[in-house]
Amino acid sequence: MKLSFQDLGQGVTCIETHFERTGLAGCYLIQQGRAAALIDTGTARTVPNIMELLELRGIRPEQVRYVIPTHVHLDHAGGSGQLMELLPEASLVVHPKGVRHLTDPAKLTAGATAVYGEEQFVKNFKELKSVAKERVIEATDGLRIDLDGRSLVCLDSPGHANHHNCIWDETSHGFFTGDTFGIAYPELTTAQGPFMLLPSTPVQFDPDAWHQTLDKLMACEPERMYLTHYCKVENPDTLVGALHEEIDAYVDIALSCDDGERENGIRTGLEALYLERLRRHGSRLSESEIHRLLDMDLALCAQGLEVWLQRRENRAA
Ligand SMILES: [Zn+2]
Repeated sequence: MKLSFQDLGQGVTCIETHFERTGLAGCYLIQQGRAAALIDTGTARTVPNIMELLELRGIRPEQVRYVIPTHVHLDHAGGSGQLMELLPEASLVVHPKGVRHLTDPAKLTAGATAVYGEEQFVKNFKELKSVAKERVIEATDGLRIDLDGRSLVCLDSPGHANHHNCIWDETSHGFFTGDTFGIAYPELTTAQGPFMLLPSTPVQFDPDAWHQTLDKLMACEPERMYLTHYCKVENPDTLVGALHEEIDAYVDIALSCDDGERENGIRTGLEALYLERLRRHGSRLSESEIHRLLDMDLALCAQGLEVWLQRRENRAA
Protein backbone atom coordinates (compact mmCIF):
# COMPACT_ATOMS: atom_id res chain seq x y z
CA MET A 1 0.00 0.00 0.00
CA LYS A 2 1.10 3.54 -0.68
CA LEU A 3 2.88 5.37 2.13
CA SER A 4 0.85 8.35 3.30
CA PHE A 5 1.66 10.53 6.31
CA GLN A 6 1.28 13.99 7.83
CA ASP A 7 4.04 15.88 9.62
CA LEU A 8 2.34 17.47 12.64
CA GLY A 9 5.34 19.38 14.02
CA GLN A 10 7.23 18.85 17.30
CA GLY A 11 8.66 15.60 15.97
CA VAL A 12 5.25 13.95 15.58
CA THR A 13 4.10 12.29 12.35
CA CYS A 14 0.71 10.67 11.72
CA ILE A 15 0.94 7.59 9.48
CA GLU A 16 -2.05 6.27 7.50
CA THR A 17 -2.62 2.60 8.44
CA HIS A 18 -4.92 1.79 5.48
CA PHE A 19 -7.26 -0.09 7.85
CA GLU A 20 -10.73 -0.41 6.23
CA ARG A 21 -10.48 2.91 4.34
CA THR A 22 -8.15 5.89 4.04
CA GLY A 23 -8.66 8.42 6.82
CA LEU A 24 -10.11 5.90 9.29
CA ALA A 25 -7.09 4.91 11.40
CA GLY A 26 -3.61 6.34 11.90
CA CYS A 27 -0.59 5.57 14.04
CA TYR A 28 2.23 7.86 15.16
CA LEU A 29 5.98 8.25 14.92
CA ILE A 30 7.71 10.43 17.52
CA GLN A 31 11.28 11.51 16.72
CA GLN A 32 13.51 12.94 19.40
CA GLY A 33 17.25 13.44 18.98
CA ARG A 34 18.71 10.12 17.90
CA ALA A 35 15.74 8.06 19.09
CA ALA A 36 12.24 7.31 17.89
CA ALA A 37 9.05 5.72 19.22
CA LEU A 38 5.88 4.44 17.60
CA ILE A 39 2.50 4.90 19.20
CA ASP A 40 -0.01 2.35 17.93
CA THR A 41 1.06 0.08 15.11
CA GLY A 42 -1.86 -0.24 12.74
CA THR A 43 -2.11 -3.82 11.47
CA ALA A 44 0.49 -6.13 9.93
CA ARG A 45 -0.54 -4.53 6.62
CA THR A 46 0.74 -1.16 7.92
CA VAL A 47 4.21 -2.37 8.90
CA PRO A 48 5.89 -2.00 5.44
CA ASN A 49 4.71 1.64 5.31
CA ILE A 50 6.12 2.33 8.79
CA MET A 51 9.50 0.88 7.76
CA GLU A 52 9.41 2.94 4.56
CA LEU A 53 8.81 6.14 6.55
CA LEU A 54 11.69 5.33 8.93
CA GLU A 55 14.00 4.94 5.95
CA LEU A 56 12.74 8.17 4.40
CA ARG A 57 13.51 9.99 7.67
CA GLY A 58 16.95 8.41 7.95
CA ILE A 59 16.01 6.50 11.13
CA ARG A 60 17.74 3.14 11.43
CA PRO A 61 15.55 0.31 12.81
CA GLU A 62 17.72 0.06 15.95
CA GLN A 63 17.03 3.73 16.77
CA VAL A 64 13.38 2.92 17.47
CA ARG A 65 13.35 2.43 21.25
CA TYR A 66 9.67 1.92 22.00
CA VAL A 67 6.56 0.53 20.35
CA ILE A 68 3.56 1.63 22.40
CA PRO A 69 0.11 0.31 21.50
CA THR A 70 -2.50 2.39 23.40
CA HIS A 71 -4.58 -0.80 23.83
CA VAL A 72 -4.75 -4.25 22.29
CA HIS A 73 -7.67 -3.76 19.86
CA LEU A 74 -6.31 -4.86 16.51
CA ASP A 75 -6.55 -1.58 14.61
CA HIS A 76 -4.12 -0.25 17.28
CA ALA A 77 -1.90 -3.22 18.13
CA GLY A 78 -2.36 -5.74 15.30
CA GLY A 79 1.07 -5.10 13.78
CA SER A 80 3.02 -5.33 17.08
CA GLY A 81 4.57 -8.76 16.48
CA GLN A 82 5.74 -8.05 12.93
CA LEU A 83 7.04 -4.62 13.90
CA MET A 84 9.02 -5.92 16.89
CA GLU A 85 10.74 -8.47 14.63
CA LEU A 86 12.03 -5.60 12.48
CA LEU A 87 13.03 -3.26 15.34
CA PRO A 88 15.76 -5.13 17.29
CA GLU A 89 16.31 -2.54 20.06
CA ALA A 90 12.66 -1.70 20.72
CA SER A 91 10.67 -2.52 23.87
CA LEU A 92 6.94 -3.05 23.62
CA VAL A 93 5.20 -0.83 26.19
CA VAL A 94 1.76 -2.21 27.06
CA HIS A 95 -0.93 -1.80 29.73
CA PRO A 96 -0.59 -4.63 32.31
CA LYS A 97 -3.99 -6.02 31.27
CA GLY A 98 -2.92 -6.15 27.62
CA VAL A 99 0.46 -7.88 27.99
CA ARG A 100 -0.71 -11.50 27.82
CA HIS A 101 -2.72 -10.81 24.65
CA LEU A 102 0.38 -9.64 22.77
CA THR A 103 2.79 -12.25 24.13
CA ASP A 104 0.25 -14.95 23.25
CA PRO A 105 -2.20 -13.59 20.66
CA ALA A 106 -4.15 -16.86 20.21
CA LYS A 107 -7.15 -15.48 22.11
CA LEU A 108 -7.13 -12.22 20.15
CA THR A 109 -6.90 -14.19 16.89
CA ALA A 110 -9.82 -16.42 17.87
CA GLY A 111 -11.93 -13.44 18.99
CA ALA A 112 -11.27 -11.41 15.84
CA THR A 113 -11.81 -14.41 13.57
CA ALA A 114 -15.18 -14.96 15.22
CA VAL A 115 -16.13 -11.32 14.58
CA TYR A 116 -14.73 -10.91 11.06
CA GLY A 117 -14.69 -14.44 9.63
CA GLU A 118 -11.49 -16.17 8.50
CA GLU A 119 -11.19 -14.49 5.09
CA GLN A 120 -11.81 -10.95 6.31
CA PHE A 121 -9.49 -11.51 9.28
CA VAL A 122 -6.62 -12.42 6.96
CA LYS A 123 -7.44 -9.54 4.62
CA ASN A 124 -7.45 -7.01 7.48
CA PHE A 125 -4.80 -8.38 9.83
CA LYS A 126 -2.78 -11.03 7.95
CA GLU A 127 -1.82 -12.84 11.16
CA LEU A 128 -1.01 -11.89 14.75
CA LYS A 129 2.56 -12.67 15.82
CA SER A 130 3.60 -13.02 19.44
CA VAL A 131 6.13 -10.76 21.14
CA ALA A 132 8.73 -12.29 23.49
CA LYS A 133 7.98 -11.55 27.17
CA GLU A 134 11.53 -10.24 27.75
CA ARG A 135 10.87 -7.39 25.32
CA VAL A 136 7.73 -6.15 27.06
CA ILE A 137 7.54 -3.27 29.56
CA GLU A 138 4.34 -3.31 31.62
CA ALA A 139 3.04 0.24 31.54
CA THR A 140 1.48 0.77 34.95
CA ASP A 141 -0.31 4.06 35.64
CA GLY A 142 2.17 6.95 35.68
CA LEU A 143 5.07 5.06 34.09
CA ARG A 144 7.50 7.57 32.63
CA ILE A 145 9.52 6.70 29.54
CA ASP A 146 12.59 8.62 28.46
CA LEU A 147 12.96 9.10 24.71
CA ASP A 148 16.37 10.76 24.39
CA GLY A 149 15.37 13.39 26.96
CA ARG A 150 11.69 13.62 25.97
CA SER A 151 9.28 12.40 28.65
CA LEU A 152 6.34 10.21 27.70
CA VAL A 153 3.98 9.26 30.53
CA CYS A 154 1.52 6.35 30.38
CA LEU A 155 -1.82 7.00 32.09
CA ASP A 156 -4.28 4.22 32.84
CA SER A 157 -7.45 5.30 31.01
CA PRO A 158 -10.40 2.89 31.30
CA GLY A 159 -13.79 3.63 29.74
CA HIS A 160 -13.34 2.41 26.16
CA ALA A 161 -11.26 -0.60 27.26
CA ASN A 162 -9.77 -1.63 30.61
CA HIS A 163 -6.40 -2.29 28.92
CA HIS A 164 -6.08 1.27 27.64
CA ASN A 165 -3.30 3.77 28.28
CA CYS A 166 -3.17 7.34 27.05
CA ILE A 167 0.36 8.64 26.47
CA TRP A 168 1.19 12.16 27.68
CA ASP A 169 3.88 13.92 25.68
CA GLU A 170 5.38 16.77 27.73
CA THR A 171 7.06 18.29 24.68
CA SER A 172 3.93 18.82 22.57
CA HIS A 173 1.61 19.16 25.56
CA GLY A 174 -0.49 16.53 23.85
CA PHE A 175 -1.98 13.14 24.62
CA PHE A 176 -1.90 10.16 22.32
CA THR A 177 -5.41 9.05 23.14
CA GLY A 178 -6.07 5.85 21.16
CA ASP A 179 -9.87 5.62 21.36
CA THR A 180 -10.32 7.26 24.77
CA PHE A 181 -10.82 10.81 23.47
CA GLY A 182 -13.26 9.56 20.85
CA ILE A 183 -13.22 9.58 17.09
CA ALA A 184 -13.11 12.71 14.91
CA TYR A 185 -13.23 11.95 11.20
CA PRO A 186 -11.93 14.83 9.05
CA GLU A 187 -14.99 14.57 6.77
CA LEU A 188 -17.24 15.54 9.70
CA THR A 189 -15.33 18.69 10.68
CA THR A 190 -17.28 21.90 10.11
CA ALA A 191 -16.78 25.61 10.86
CA GLN A 192 -17.70 24.65 14.43
CA GLY A 193 -14.64 22.38 14.60
CA PRO A 194 -14.09 18.62 14.78
CA PHE A 195 -17.13 16.40 15.37
CA MET A 196 -16.63 13.95 18.22
CA LEU A 197 -17.99 10.38 18.25
CA LEU A 198 -17.71 8.05 21.24
CA PRO A 199 -16.60 4.47 20.38
CA SER A 200 -18.36 2.13 22.86
CA THR A 201 -16.77 -0.83 21.08
CA PRO A 202 -17.28 -4.29 22.71
CA VAL A 203 -16.59 -5.52 25.33
CA GLN A 204 -15.57 -3.16 28.13
CA PHE A 205 -17.57 0.06 27.80
CA ASP A 206 -17.65 1.62 31.27
CA PRO A 207 -19.48 4.96 31.42
CA ASP A 208 -18.47 5.98 34.96
CA ALA A 209 -14.81 5.13 34.39
CA TRP A 210 -14.86 7.00 31.07
CA HIS A 211 -16.14 10.22 32.67
CA GLN A 212 -13.38 9.97 35.28
CA THR A 213 -10.73 9.24 32.68
CA LEU A 214 -11.70 12.33 30.64
CA ASP A 215 -11.40 14.44 33.82
CA LYS A 216 -7.99 12.88 34.52
CA LEU A 217 -6.73 13.72 31.01
CA MET A 218 -8.03 17.29 31.12
CA ALA A 219 -6.36 17.86 34.52
CA CYS A 220 -3.03 17.82 32.62
CA GLU A 221 -4.30 20.82 30.60
CA PRO A 222 -3.50 19.31 27.20
CA GLU A 223 -3.33 21.64 24.21
CA ARG A 224 -3.91 18.91 21.63
CA MET A 225 -4.93 15.28 21.29
CA TYR A 226 -3.49 12.81 18.80
CA LEU A 227 -6.42 10.52 17.98
CA THR A 228 -6.05 7.19 16.23
CA HIS A 229 -9.30 7.94 14.35
CA TYR A 230 -8.18 10.33 12.97
CA CYS A 231 -5.14 12.52 13.51
CA LYS A 232 -4.65 15.64 15.64
CA VAL A 233 -7.32 17.84 17.22
CA GLU A 234 -6.50 21.13 18.96
CA ASN A 235 -8.07 22.73 22.05
CA PRO A 236 -9.50 19.57 23.63
CA ASP A 237 -11.16 21.71 26.33
CA THR A 238 -13.69 22.76 23.67
CA LEU A 239 -14.33 19.12 22.63
CA VAL A 240 -14.49 17.16 25.87
CA GLY A 241 -18.03 18.35 26.71
CA ALA A 242 -19.42 16.54 23.65
CA LEU A 243 -17.82 13.27 24.81
CA HIS A 244 -19.29 13.58 28.33
CA GLU A 245 -22.72 14.25 26.75
CA GLU A 246 -22.40 11.23 24.49
CA ILE A 247 -21.51 8.90 27.37
CA ASP A 248 -24.73 9.96 29.13
CA ALA A 249 -26.76 9.77 25.91
CA TYR A 250 -25.49 6.22 25.25
CA VAL A 251 -26.53 5.10 28.73
CA ASP A 252 -30.00 6.65 28.25
CA ILE A 253 -30.44 5.02 24.83
CA ALA A 254 -29.30 1.60 26.06
CA LEU A 255 -31.49 1.67 29.18
CA SER A 256 -34.56 2.79 27.21
CA CYS A 257 -34.42 -0.18 24.81
CA ASP A 258 -36.52 -3.25 25.57
CA ASP A 259 -35.46 -6.87 25.34
CA GLY A 260 -35.91 -8.83 22.13
CA GLU A 261 -34.60 -6.64 19.33
CA ARG A 262 -32.64 -4.56 21.80
CA GLU A 263 -29.40 -4.20 19.82
CA ASN A 264 -31.35 -2.98 16.77
CA GLY A 265 -33.18 -0.49 18.95
CA ILE A 266 -29.91 0.82 20.34
CA ARG A 267 -28.52 1.12 16.82
CA THR A 268 -31.56 3.14 15.68
CA GLY A 269 -31.21 5.35 18.75
CA LEU A 270 -27.54 6.00 18.05
CA GLU A 271 -28.24 6.87 14.39
CA ALA A 272 -30.87 9.39 15.41
CA LEU A 273 -28.55 10.84 18.06
CA TYR A 274 -25.69 11.40 15.62
CA LEU A 275 -27.84 12.70 12.76
CA GLU A 276 -29.25 15.29 15.10
CA ARG A 277 -25.84 16.17 16.55
CA LEU A 278 -24.26 16.42 13.08
CA ARG A 279 -26.97 18.79 11.85
CA ARG A 280 -26.54 20.93 14.94
CA HIS A 281 -22.80 20.89 14.24
CA GLY A 282 -23.54 22.41 10.82
CA SER A 283 -22.70 19.31 8.75
CA ARG A 284 -24.18 19.47 5.25
CA LEU A 285 -23.21 15.90 4.32
CA SER A 286 -26.00 13.81 2.81
CA GLU A 287 -27.53 11.08 4.93
CA SER A 288 -26.04 8.42 2.64
CA GLU A 289 -22.58 9.93 3.05
CA ILE A 290 -23.04 9.98 6.83
CA HIS A 291 -24.08 6.32 6.70
CA ARG A 292 -21.00 5.47 4.65
CA LEU A 293 -18.74 7.11 7.24
CA LEU A 294 -20.45 5.95 10.43
CA ASP A 295 -22.32 2.67 9.82
CA MET A 296 -19.47 0.40 10.90
CA ASP A 297 -18.78 2.44 14.06
CA LEU A 298 -22.43 2.66 15.04
CA ALA A 299 -22.91 -1.10 14.62
CA LEU A 300 -19.91 -1.67 16.92
CA CYS A 301 -21.17 0.94 19.40
CA ALA A 302 -24.58 -0.78 19.54
CA GLN A 303 -22.91 -4.17 20.12
CA GLY A 304 -20.79 -2.66 22.88
CA LEU A 305 -23.83 -1.19 24.62
CA GLU A 306 -25.68 -4.51 24.37
CA VAL A 307 -22.69 -6.25 26.01
CA TRP A 308 -22.66 -3.55 28.72
CA LEU A 309 -26.37 -4.10 29.43
CA GLN A 310 -25.85 -7.86 29.71
CA ARG A 311 -22.94 -7.35 32.10
CA ARG A 312 -25.09 -5.03 34.23
CA GLU A 313 -27.93 -7.56 34.31
CA ASN A 314 -25.58 -10.41 35.24
CA ARG A 315 -24.19 -8.33 38.10
CA ALA A 316 -27.68 -7.52 39.35
CA ALA A 317 -28.81 -11.18 39.17
ZN1 LIG B 1 -9.73 2.00 17.41
